[in-house]
Amino acid sequence: MILTTCPDCLAEIEIYEDVMVGEIVECSDCGLELEVEKVEGNQVEMQRLSIEKEDWGE
Ligand SMILES: [Zn+2]
Repeated sequence: MILTTCPDCLAEIEIYEDVMVGEIVECSDCGLELEVEKVEGNQVEMQRLSIEKEDWGE
């Protein structure tokens, strides 16, 4: 397991080591959805998945 931290509530999130880029991981604490950006050994970089769009690109 890889442990990472939720950027929102700072809870620890466990991710399987065979996680793939593009997979969506959900924080079990606050429900925030994160997309896996990069997997490097025991390090996983994740990006917050924005569901509600604030910028409509006018
Ligand atoms: Zn969270």
